Amino acid sequence: MRLLDTTLRDGEQAPGVSMSPDEKADVARALDRAGVDVIEAGSACTGAGERETIRRVVDLDLDATVTSFARGVTSDVDLAVDCGVDGVHVVVPASDRHVEQKVGSTREEVAETTADLVEHARDHGLWVEVIGEDGSRADLDFLERLAEAAHEAGADRFCFADTVGHTGPEHAYEAVSRLADLGPTSTHTHDDLGLAVTNALASVAAGADLVHATVNGVGERAGNVALEEVAIALAHRYGVETVELTELYDLARTVADATDVPLAPNKAVVGENAFAHESGIHTDGTLKDERMYEPYPPETVGRERRLVLGKHTGRAGAEAALAEHGVEVDDDELQEVVARVQDLAERNKRVTDADLLAIAEDVQGRERDRRIELLELAATSGGRIPTASVRLAVDGEERVASGTGDGPVDAAVTAVREAVAGSGDSTAVAADANLESYHVDAITGGTDAVVTVEVEMRRGDRTVTVASSDGDITRASVTAMVDALDRLLVADEATDPAVADD
Ligand SMILES: [Zn+2]
Repeated sequence: MRLLDTTLRDGEQAPGVSMSPDEKADVARALDRAGVDVIEAGSACTGAGERETIRRVVDLDLDATVTSFARGVTSDVDLAVDCGVDGVHVVVPASDRHVEQKVGSTREEVAETTADLVEHARDHGLWVEVIGEDGSRADLDFLERLAEAAHEAGADRFCFADTVGHTGPEHAYEAVSRLADLGPTSTHTHDDLGLAVTNALASVAAGADLVHATVNGVGERAGNVALEEVAIALAHRYGVETVELTELYDLARTVADATDVPLAPNKAVVGENAFAHESGIHTDGTLKDERMYEPYPPETVGRERRLVLGKHTGRAGAEAALAEHGVEVDDDELQEVVARVQDLAERNKRVTDADLLAIAEDVQGRERDRRIELLELAATSGGRIPTASVRLAVDGEERVASGTGDGPVDAAVTAVREAVAGSGDSTAVAADANLESYHVDAITGGTDAVVTVEVEMRRGDRTVTVASSDGDITRASVTAMVDALDRLLVADEATDPAVADD
């Protein structure tokens, strides 16, 4: 069973999504690492920029077959050939709505053109897949006729396309069964009815051996079927191997960053909460048997189990989470920790393990060993370009950096990242942490108001929320950010011995 990824083509057609050539190359490399069989790199007819990007993916020399989308005209196929791709998806109308209203043609004409296009592409040595657009709303006899024409002309495969996410599993099964009798068949499903995975699986059961998908399900309207969901469902339910499952989470984050489409917390496989347990009963059960409330271990898809603390956290959960980080507390301290965890959660905050460590430290009045500390900050917004410089202690070594930005806070944040990244050692990884949220509260009124800045930062699977108060908003922001970076590093160390040994 093989998977085709169309994140770079269909995925990018999602409203508001645009990836740079660099980002597309990153995504293509991540797809190849995961062992995706076919990568649809773009649509060569879109423009010179798109063709440049497709060529760039071709030049990466990946193991995957790299293809381009082509409308049903020979000039599109020629543009794809110019990009040096291995194959092409020729899209021809299949439903009468598309045949008659969109293209102004007839069924017979479409079948003839399809054969000509396939021969043309084959003449250029391309792997050819014919996609019958809107196939799920097409007359099945005609869809068969189209597939027959494609195969007779030498197409490698025909794709059943549920272009508007209209079909259900029974129809998908029937259509693909009939198509698979004629030759190799693919399936392309969309999630408008929330049935994209179901329809993909029904297609596979009916004989499809190539599933089109996008990472995180990004795509037009409700999106395409999610690659990671198809992969895990096939593996977990049917023992069918497709891609390297342990790469799925990295792949998801790469695409979330490139597309700026955040992962929904409850998303299967890749969501923040997919392997998190908060409620007292579930946490208790999970502590007794890790598999109690999980279908498969998180490591399967490159993740870690998290016992999340929140308003349902009880003493057992908090104590276990602290013990995981080697922190012991007495009964009174534990009670105070639980109360403060619940309080933070009541304010609608995620409570992470880094937050928990901060709370425990505070309750026990301990000073922790810092890896990154702010020594000095100077920021100016008087000139035309806001500028800031910082002096940090990083693992005991002083570092100075400066930056510019849209405002003094932005400039200072740039400077901090610069100082942290400059090292190239184990702290440098903190520089790529993302600022997930930034919130300012004025505590007192007037011009000398004290402000509290709360930042939430993320690195990989880990987030931390840190607040800092100061009379100066830039200082409060930078202090909070530096503290958050430090806590992300320290939390990493606590769970990753490889880092601690550095
Ligand atoms: Zn599509």
